[in-house]
Amino acid sequence: MTLHRATPLLESIPLSGASGRRVFLKMENMQPSGSFKLRGVGHLCETAAREGATRFIAPSGGNAGYAAAWSGRALGIPTTVVVPKTTSEEAKNTITALGAEVVVEGSVWEESNDFALALASKHRGARYVHAFDDPLLWEGHGTMIDEAAEQMDKPDAIVLSVGGGGLLCGVVVGMDRNGWEDVSVVACETEGAASYAAALSAGRVVRLPKISSVATSLGSLAVAPRALEVERTHRIVSHVGTDRSAVNACKRFLDDHRVLVEPACGISLAQVYEGKLPEDARTLLVVVCGGIGISAKKLEDMDRAVF
Ligand SMILES: *Cc1c(COP(=O)(O)O)cnc(C)c1O
Repeated sequence: MTLHRATPLLESIPLSGASGRRVFLKMENMQPSGSFKLRGVGHLCETAAREGATRFIAPSGGNAGYAAAWSGRALGIPTTVVVPKTTSEEAKNTITALGAEVVVEGSVWEESNDFALALASKHRGARYVHAFDDPLLWEGHGTMIDEAAEQMDKPDAIVLSVGGGGLLCGVVVGMDRNGWEDVSVVACETEGAASYAAALSAGRVVRLPKISSVATSLGSLAVAPRALEVERTHRIVSHVGTDRSAVNACKRFLDDHRVLVEPACGISLAQVYEGKLPEDARTLLVVVCGGIGISAKKLEDMDRAVF
């Protein structure tokens, strides 16, 4: 048994109507941890546990940290989640409610990450759990395409969001092992968190000076080098949209499907609602990546705060 769950594939009448395409949704918001992250993190943690890991150490106050805490709980392995000072009490409580230990260290993710790496090197048997840059994560994320390949015919394009590029690399792994290597990928980011678009136009991994977007789950300053490599072998179309588009899409998706997702996911939905898609893509698979960093109140606040 895996830690993640097989998720439903839904044909969306509202998104199909809005985009003029046939749209299928892979409902990763329904993972026990609220996002697709459990696929990769769960696979990584299970593999590490089999190899004798005695502790998981994850630097992330977001969905990756939550998935690591979830995995540690399920496998009975103590888990330390290192979060920056900016992490809300609510987010910390959500993680500790799973029995994980939360350590507050650093003012930005990079500093928490340095601390987590140092901690992992001190603890014998500790396994450091990266949020997006580890081949085990990609292998785990790839299971969503294994499932989709059984649930639908091959689509023309897959629409997904890019933070550090772990989801992208994992979807490509899944495409390659299911004969879907010729499917286009629409890689979506928000302005202010567009580290992938920056890397693609520079032809190398670029480090953004800062993140300024409500889509905090997309907030990695630099993508995994592998995300750039897959662009050489697959047809990847990069799209950068506004926070306003992402928030509008979250509101519309809530009304259309009665499902609440983070703006990190909303930006993918926005490309479909707004029809910003390759001409020849008649059938789309949209990864509804989910996220626990959202509530009715937060969506209202974002709606007011964003231009
Ligand atoms: C992590 C995350 C992403 C981005 O995934 P990467 O692997 O960092 O590219 C997108 N949406 C949600 C909800 C996430 O948790």
